[in-house]
Order: sequence, then structure tokens, then C-alpha cells
Amino acid sequence: MINQFDSPTMKRSVFVSTGYLFIVSLVLLFESCQMARNSDISEHMQQANELSERLLLLDGHIDWPSRLIYRPSNVLIESSIGDFDVIRAGKGGLNAVMSVVYISPDIDIEEGRKMADNQIHTIDSLISGNPGLLAYAKTPEEVRLNFEKGLLSLPFVMENGAPIGDDLNYVDYLADKGFIYITLCHSITNKISDSSYDTNRAWNGLSPFGFEVIDKMNLEGIMVDVSHSSEKASIQAAMHSKAPVIASHSATQKYVPGYERNLSDTLIKLIASKGGIMMVNFGSSFIDATCKKSWDYLWNLKDSIGVSVWSPEGKTYVEEYSKSNQVYSNASRIADHIDHIVKIAGIDYAGLGSDFDGIGPSQPADVPDVSAYPNLIAELLERGYSEDDIEKVLSGNFLRVWEETLAISDSLKHL
Ligand SMILES: [Zn+2]
Repeated sequence: MINQFDSPTMKRSVFVSTGYLFIVSLVLLFESCQMARNSDISEHMQQANELSERLLLLDGHIDWPSRLIYRPSNVLIESSIGDFDVIRAGKGGLNAVMSVVYISPDIDIEEGRKMADNQIHTIDSLISGNPGLLAYAKTPEEVRLNFEKGLLSLPFVMENGAPIGDDLNYVDYLADKGFIYITLCHSITNKISDSSYDTNRAWNGLSPFGFEVIDKMNLEGIMVDVSHSSEKASIQAAMHSKAPVIASHSATQKYVPGYERNLSDTLIKLIASKGGIMMVNFGSSFIDATCKKSWDYLWNLKDSIGVSVWSPEGKTYVEEYSKSNQVYSNASRIADHIDHIVKIAGIDYAGLGSDFDGIGPSQPADVPDVSAYPNLIAELLERGYSEDDIEKVLSGNFLRVWEETLAISDSLKHL
């Protein structure tokens, strides 16, 4: 009798069947773990959706007004153009959008002021034409009241103080229009501040006039935004400003080492010690070093192969490239940056500054636009953030800094 195990066929089939059973049990184990995780996630998703509806959710930096110049769309209806429209904002539970009046860094003061007025006009006409849907908000109180009424607040903010020129009266002009923060510079060093992207460090930080601009912003109750400034200028701004400073759309250098546009640990600790806030940028190239490498290449396609990432050919190229390279990050990595700020500074100093409509098409895969905040909230729940913690990140911290800025302005005006 041939021992069944002597039969090569039997041996193989026994081996195959034991191997198969082993693999099946591994697969079952994996699937049951996966099911547990999926049920965790879906449980968290449900809670995340509920929180996004119930809590005031504020995004510190969305470039929709200038995006309309380059890629027009009707933001009152759901669109696949750009990252923001009011319908997708509603789906994402978004209640307040810091609406960025962006000033190209390579134009003169007069053109800059025209560019500002055009975008101010765009926001004005949208709000005044849709009073049941949208609202101005010049104070945190107005944001809260609008939220209670179900209105989407669109506070004005300026990215790049270049149109100030040498004229502090322009800060009064912006204050009158209701601007709540000014990003000191953009990608080129201007008359106020050295830029993190510019090798020309004309001021070794802030210019002498830059310090005056900060004094004037403190007086007028306009928050000082150090996103884009060089490390040295950011440190000087945080040290000099009487009100806490903000970084409206910066991630941390923890996951993109040496990237000066992001926040170093020194800066994170300093901004927190002055009571400010750091609002995490969602761009894949801001939050992940490997993705940044991909985008450093992809943003330059126009120069290397004559194709823009915005063109249909460019989009196809990016999709092909993403099959063998990491191009898109995710909500989990955004949460890593929030975790890092919380770990080294505390829960009172983190916020969200997606930079939507300024980072396209490098949005994270699972947070592609303003409809997707619940995916990030679910990630925070998964990591054990309490509802109070999440409320601080979604809006509480920013509203606190804004309130304090207005209180300091009040006390300076009554000196
Ligand atoms: Zn920016």
C-alpha cells in the first residue's frame, strides 16, 4: 500500500490543501481585521459626518476668488472645476471660508491693487446676490451668528501684502473692507518680508517697513499671517507682533524636512508660545516628502516637455506618472501634521488651512475638495481626538486668535 504521503500527487495535494487552508485562514484573519477596521472607519465616518454638520467648520485659506480668474466656474452650483463651490462646501460641512484675495508677486503696486479690487468685487457680488446663502463676517461673533442661521461666511483675507507698497493707509483701506488677515508676502521677497521661496533675502527677515506694517495691522485688528515668509521673518513677526500670529496654510517640516515653506519645530513652539495658530496645508507636496519630489518634477513639466499639468495631455501624463510614483497623499498624512503640532505645542494651536484652489491638482486622494472634510475628521476620531479637540481644530482655535487680535486692537486704540 502506498502511503498516501508517498504519492507525489497526494503529497502535493496535501501540501496544497494545507497551504491553501493556511492561506485561507490568513485571508480570513486579514479580512476579519479589515472588517473590524472598516467597521471602525464606517463608525467613525458616521460620527465624522455628524460632527461636520454640528460643529462650526472653518477653513483658513481657500483661493477661490483668484481661481475664478484662471479657471472660471459658477460656485453656486456643483462643479467639477476647482475645489470649492457652495454645494460641495455644504456636503463637507464647511461654514466659514477665509476667501483669499491673492496678489501675484510679479506685478507692480498699482496692478496689485487692481487685482485686489477685482477679487473684492467678485466676493462682494457673490455675497450681495445671495443673501440667503452667503454672508460677510468681520468678527468671530458674526461667523458664529451666520453659522446659527445656516449661512456660509466668506471673510476677506489678502495673500501677499505687496499692494501696501510704502503706504500704510492701504492697511486702513483693507480694514474698512473687512479684511481679517494679511499674508505678509508670497513667493517673491517684497517690501515687507523675505519669502521662503526666494533666494533674495533682501531684509534678512522683515524690512524696517515690515515692522511698521505689523504695528499698523495690530492697531487695525488684522491678523499677521507668516505663511510664505522666510523662517527668520516669521520669527521676527511672531516676536514683534502684539497680537498672536497665524500661519494660514503651512504644514510642518517634520514630514518634509528642510522645506522652509513649512513650519520648523522652533517656529511651531514660538507661534504657540505667543498664542497663535498653525493651519495645516493639505497639498500633497506640502505634507509628504515623496509626493513633493514628484510634484517638484510635475510642476515643471511645462519647461521640461512643454505640457502644463492643467492641460488634458498634462492630466494624462500625471495619471500615468502616478502609477509608478507616489503623487497623491491622504487624510492620514494631514492628520500626522496636526498630530505633530499637537504633540510639540498643544491642541490649542492647530487648525485647517487647506489651500484648496491653490494646490490643485496636487490634492490628497481622499480629500480632493471641500466636500471631503469628514474623511479627515474620521481620521482624527480614529486617533482618539475628542469632540472638544476636534472642535478646536475645526474653528475654535482660529476664532480665539481672531478675538484676541480684535481685543488687542481695541486696547491699542484706547491707549
Ligand atoms: Zn499660498
